[in-house]
Amino acid sequence: MKHREVNCPTCRKKFNYFDSAFRPFCSERCRLIDLGQWLSESYTVPAEKLTPDEIDTLEKLHEKENSEEDGNEDKYEDDQE
Ligand SMILES: [Zn+2]
Repeated sequence: MKHREVNCPTCRKKFNYFDSAFRPFCSERCRLIDLGQWLSESYTVPAEKLTPDEIDTLEKLHEKENSEEDGNEDKYEDDQE
């Protein structure tokens, strides 16, 4: 059995890294808190520490927020004659 004790980046609690489905966090709650902080800092944190899956989720969330602001998408497709 693998065992590696680490500290959760969010709550600093010690847990077995291989026990958690939400590593490097101890729980889903801590993971969401961390993602929330990342979002509120508007992408100032380097993205390398996130998995591609998490980046995808965050980008979808971000798109949702923005799509309500810009409703006008003008495309210039006919400047060829
Ligand atoms: Zn935690």
